[in-house]
Amino acid sequence: MRAAIFVGQDLDLSVEDVTSTPPGARDVVVRIEASGVCHSDLSVIDGKLPVGAPCILGHEGAGTVEWTGSEVTRCNVGDRVILSLTPVCGACWHCLRQETHLCEMGSGVTAVQRAVRADGSTTGALSGLGTFSDSIAVHEASCIPVQTDLPADQLSLIGCGITTGLGAALNTAAVHFGATVAVIGCGGVGTSVIQGARIAGASQIIAIDPVEFKRSSAGHFGATNTIDPTDGDPVQQVLALTGGRGVDYAFEAVGAHDLIVQAISMTRKGGTTVLVGVPHWSTTVAVPILPLIIQDKSIKGSYYGSSRTTRDFPRFIQLVETGRLDLGSMVSRRLSLDEINDAFTAMKNGEVLRTVIV
Ligand SMILES: [Zn+2]
Ligand SMILES: [Zn+2]
Repeated sequence: MRAAIFVGQDLDLSVEDVTSTPPGARDVVVRIEASGVCHSDLSVIDGKLPVGAPCILGHEGAGTVEWTGSEVTRCNVGDRVILSLTPVCGACWHCLRQETHLCEMGSGVTAVQRAVRADGSTTGALSGLGTFSDSIAVHEASCIPVQTDLPADQLSLIGCGITTGLGAALNTAAVHFGATVAVIGCGGVGTSVIQGARIAGASQIIAIDPVEFKRSSAGHFGATNTIDPTDGDPVQQVLALTGGRGVDYAFEAVGAHDLIVQAISMTRKGGTTVLVGVPHWSTTVAVPILPLIIQDKSIKGSYYGSSRTTRDFPRFIQLVETGRLDLGSMVSRRLSLDEINDAFTAMKNGEVLRTVIV
């Protein structure tokens, strides 16, 4: 198999031929047909997320089942699957309470070594997935079979960015009809929050991003107002657009200290701030508590869109098939696995919503 491997902080991924380790009885070998390049992959490379090297990166993938272990029950050879960022074992404390995004199986899939490199060392796979590869074994708990004719590049986005953003709006916040919403950061995840808010029937969706192309694309996806934060304090700009009150729901989709503070400040009395962006692991934010209490404000973390992937992946596919969710416009660029480092350059330069490796 061929795979793009994280070999050390701030180094380019190494695209190599590697030998698969023997898959287990509950493993599924998936031919990866498309893999989105997500900001969290970059966060591994630049040290924001602590992950040991070597590791096959990529966690936003879709493909077709090529082989199943003797104890696999969830899917069959030939099935199309979207890989789930978190496994869904179906039997742990959280899965039994419909909180499958918090499934306790995590390390049971992420610690497995999936390939041997030319020098004899072994490598694991990010989130137990490693979708920056042409084919890889994953635990069946990470596989969600789907029945659709949508192209693989669109399906791959559902594996992380779409589910994280759409789920933050529809599951974590449960944006209500007629709500006012602000979204800080309009890349792949922020754009998905905007689409989720639009689908929920929000009356006002304010998109905030310093990059002009991201503001204009936010309008395409459903934003009713856009704010350039370099034009002046974005909190004051949001207050000016909301009668001085702030928004019902403010989403932070970047993971930056100052932007988290802004998101809390632009949330109205009685409103909810939703933290979606992944910050540096050491980030802390000091929040004055008394205003939170006397203004009845909530701050919520949102992991993987509080999603239940076995329910939500088919639901999101149906939204695409009926024209209510636009995934095609989110694929900015398609590159081959050998060109993967160019995808990170484009991401750092703010040139793309999503690059997909095909
Ligand atoms: Zn991701
Ligand atoms: Zn579980």
